[in-house]
Amino acid sequence: MSASEYALFIDGRWRDARAGRRFAVENPADGSVVAELPDAGPEDMADAVAAAVRAQADWADRPAHERGAMLLRVADAMRAQSEELARLMTMEEGKPLADARGEIAYAASFLEWFGQEADRVYGDVLAVNDPGKRLFVFKRPVGVTAAITPWNFPAAMITRKLGPALAAGCTMVIKPSELTPLSALAMARLFEAAGLPPGVLSVVPGQDAPALAGVVMADARVRKVSFTGSTEVGQILMRQAADTVKRLSLELGGHAPMIVFDDADLDLAVDQAVIAKMRGMGETCVSPNRFYVQRSIAPRFGRAMAERLGAMRVGNGLEDGVQVGPLVEAAAVTKVERHVEDAVRGGAELVLGGRRTDGPGHFYLPTVLAGVRDDMLVSREETFGPVVPLSVFDDEDEAVRRANDTPYGLAAYFFTRDAARVMRLADHLEYGILGANDGLPSNARAPFGGLKASGFGREGGRYGIDEYLDVKYMSLGGIRRGAP
Ligand code: ADP
Repeated sequence: MSASEYALFIDGRWRDARAGRRFAVENPADGSVVAELPDAGPEDMADAVAAAVRAQADWADRPAHERGAMLLRVADAMRAQSEELARLMTMEEGKPLADARGEIAYAASFLEWFGQEADRVYGDVLAVNDPGKRLFVFKRPVGVTAAITPWNFPAAMITRKLGPALAAGCTMVIKPSELTPLSALAMARLFEAAGLPPGVLSVVPGQDAPALAGVVMADARVRKVSFTGSTEVGQILMRQAADTVKRLSLELGGHAPMIVFDDADLDLAVDQAVIAKMRGMGETCVSPNRFYVQRSIAPRFGRAMAERLGAMRVGNGLEDGVQVGPLVEAAAVTKVERHVEDAVRGGAELVLGGRRTDGPGHFYLPTVLAGVRDDMLVSREETFGPVVPLSVFDDEDEAVRRANDTPYGLAAYFFTRDAARVMRLADHLEYGILGANDGLPSNARAPFGGLKASGFGREGGRYGIDEYLDVKYMSLGGIRRGAP
């Protein structure tokens, strides 16, 4: 797709915004304009919702196998076009090409998983409690749905909502992040080419997120909204959903702890810590934000992390060998700076990095802080950057207590060789996703989602499709011959 081809995708057509406004998507590596595209307003979003309403009944009536086959075709197309899609993603989001390729494969895996799950939606026939009656439970698509998605995974955050929605028989209107709308539109092209009927999917990018989201939240015909983003915006959507009693899935902020015990395989722990922390420059909601390392191994772990992060190549993600790209925008760099400065002012030791780079682009160097305390900003707020804050602990109870001392509950990681301890931590860590000796637990067949202020609802796995299905129950009476 050339830059001039970007347009809103509404009701199966590529078009301009009704108000004629446009906006630019910038490359965070150098500030260049990647593309200009129409800036949707509320009236465009209303068109998309109306189109979804029109398309809903027919889509829900299609055989499940046909809906699934559509998703499988698009998964194949994504893999076939992985290189172009990955380059586009790197240009609009900043993550290095290798990361972007990985995300395209990850995104396609959700379409594949849910393409197969379409055929595996089951109801129930309940035990007889009255001989004259039979009791049935049906699963039906919830109807018209909407997704509001963030910029950090421009493709995967869409497919893990869109995959189950389409598989279940729902239509979906997507408002992608205004920072990364191009990947969303490129995927819409693939659905169009695969023959998706008009209106089943619309992609409506625009700069005024509250106004666009306001349209879907206020419309009673939109029966469900799935959101990934900040806890603050999730809270706004939850309040707005009350007016029409809409179903919600909220995947909100996180503040993942990573606990490394002195009986851990230290090489494995370091490898996994680097992968978990540096994927997408630390701009992920499952990125470890607090590293608790048991006292006797803390110096070794700290040195190894500094060595590994210090050797990573920082630069434009399109260049060969670059492992750390720019952060998504200027404000992201300012936030990381604020967190690191606060820690250093409070007495933390700067072991590595600790500054932005000179020259263009929103780059911040991989950073390691030691002696971090729980009251520092890095320990309380999501940093969303390449910062490893190290803190020492003495025993398991202390580690668990400190790890749980946050409003968030998305992901937690721990490294130990003690099987009994693994099970104790599985019970006691208040998180929806646990990585036990694993820094990358996410995959399409597993339920992804948080506890506490990290939201509710699950994406992926056989749980993911339930978010798009309503449970209906029918009691059929009068079936005994000759019964009164
Ligand atoms: P992040 O910190 O990941 O950027 P945001 O919550 O700000 O998280 O953004 C996630 C998505 O929510 C984006 O698509 C953004 O445009 C959208 N968004 C931002 N503010 C609002 C709002 N007030 N109402 C609805 N959607 C919003």
